[in-house]
Order: sequence, then structure tokens, then C-alpha cells
Amino acid sequence: MNIKNKPATFFALLIIVFMAYILYWSATKPIAVVIQAGHEGRTSGNTGAETKEYREALWNVFVADEVAKQLKLWDIEVKRVPAKVPFMRANIAVSIHFDSAKTPCRTGASIGYPNVDSQAFAQRWRKLYSDYFPFLWHQDNFTKGLKNYYAYKWIRADKFLVLELGELSCDKQSKWLKPRLKEVAKLVAYGIAKELGKDVEKPSI
Ligand SMILES: [Zn+2]
Repeated sequence: MNIKNKPATFFALLIIVFMAYILYWSATKPIAVVIQAGHEGRTSGNTGAETKEYREALWNVFVADEVAKQLKLWDIEVKRVPAKVPFMRANIAVSIHFDSAKTPCRTGASIGYPNVDSQAFAQRWRKLYSDYFPFLWHQDNFTKGLKNYYAYKWIRADKFLVLELGELSCDKQSKWLKPRLKEVAKLVAYGIAKELGKDVEKPSI
């Protein structure tokens, strides 16, 4: 190999190695909390539940934004992501969804997760939300979508919950949920903060 300008080549290589290191470091440094709005940004494939009145993706965005806002108020590091996610690491990841059913009111709230650490968090969330949400609950991981959620592979979180916060296609539930979305979000944020061991006040709802 005949390199005319050896110092320049050396510095170019050095810069490439440095950039690769920065990329690797930023991709692998865990973020305290990642909040995903399910289906956000999708125009094809699984774009989420839809009824005449409501679109799940819009509700997800609203709730995810409110959760992130509340966590920031509590000085908790948070990253808000849409459906498409890059590879990243997190202490806690929560994906926000609302369910739908072919026969309305057959479903309700449920939780998906990939590991045992998440299961304990899921149990605490279920307890917290059950005191508030007055409708049906499904078994954890009761669908493939919850059990094998695609983002488990992308967001490597110590604890990852996919939350179905109620059934959009059930009139009773969606009518109950719509004016309470902000409160639901506060409760999600509270559950996350407690999971991180933060001493925050329980929202009065
Ligand atoms: Zn969904």
C-alpha cells in the first residue's frame, strides 16, 4: 500500500474510530425511561385500533406525551419514541396502547412484558391501575403482540411493559377513558417513578 500522506490518513482513521466510539457509546448508554406511543408514525402495517370516533395512535401520543411531561417535572430522564425505534438501552421502557375487539367490550386492560423483572413491575402496575380502571382485565401476555412485542428486541430495558390501558372499541370504556386520559398518564408516570425508587407524591385522582 502506497499512502502519500501518512499523517492525514492516520488522522482520518482516528476520526472514524472516534465517531464509531461515540455512536456505540450513545447507543448503549442506558436511558432511565423510554416512553413509546404505540403505532405513532405508522402509515401502513399495524396502524392501531380505530373506531368511528377515535384513533388509538392519537390517544397513545397524547398519553405518552403526558407521561413524559410528568416524569420530566420529577427530574427523571426520559426519551419519547414513536413506533419505529432505534437500538437503545433503558432502565425502564413503557409502551402505551389501547386495545380493540371484534366483539366490542370483550377486552379491557392488559399488560405485556418479556422477562421476570418486568413481571414484578407489571403486578405493581396492575394493582395501581385496578384501583382506578373499573373494567375488565386480561391475563398478562394474553396475545402474541404482547408476549413478543417487536420493540423488546430494539429497546433493551431492564423492565419493559406494554400497557393496554383499556378498550377503545367499547363505548362504555372509551367514554369513561376519554376525559381521564391525563389522569391515566399521571398514574403511569407515578408507577414508573416509584419503580425507579423516587419519592414522589401519588397523583390525587
Ligand atoms: Zn396498539
